[in-house]
Amino acid sequence: MTIFSKIVSGEIPCNKVLENEDFLAFHDINPKAPIHILIIPKVEYKNFQEVDPKIMMGMTLFIHEVAKLLGLDESGYRLITNNGEDGGQEVLHLHFHLLGGAKLSWSHLSDSDSKNFI
Ligand code: AMP
Repeated sequence: MTIFSKIVSGEIPCNKVLENEDFLAFHDINPKAPIHILIIPKVEYKNFQEVDPKIMMGMTLFIHEVAKLLGLDESGYRLITNNGEDGGQEVLHLHFHLLGGAKLSWSHLSDSDSKNFI
């Protein structure tokens, strides 16, 4: 069971933003932006590569709802999912990072020199 499944079951607390039958949104414990929300399906999928595409429609609508709730639909936001080892995924339960509340730079995401990626 992943740490996020323990959050879904209530075994571990979270700072909840929004919830419905299938999805949960809560504040990231280690925020990388003024607003940093994690959005997960309650059913455990390892990552984006392994998700059942059928749940992505509901996930998309739920993410729109979270963005609206936080006023990010107007100001803008960044949506990220880290997939697998090279993607930097630490928690093996599909999650989207919703980042906003400031004009986000792009470069802070890169800890390698892209010139080496030929
Ligand atoms: P990732 O590297 O994409 O797997 O991201 C995992 C994210 O989960 C990180 O941003 C962590 O700060 C966050 N995280 C880990 N444990 C918790 C928790 N108990 N509550 C909220 N966020 C968490």
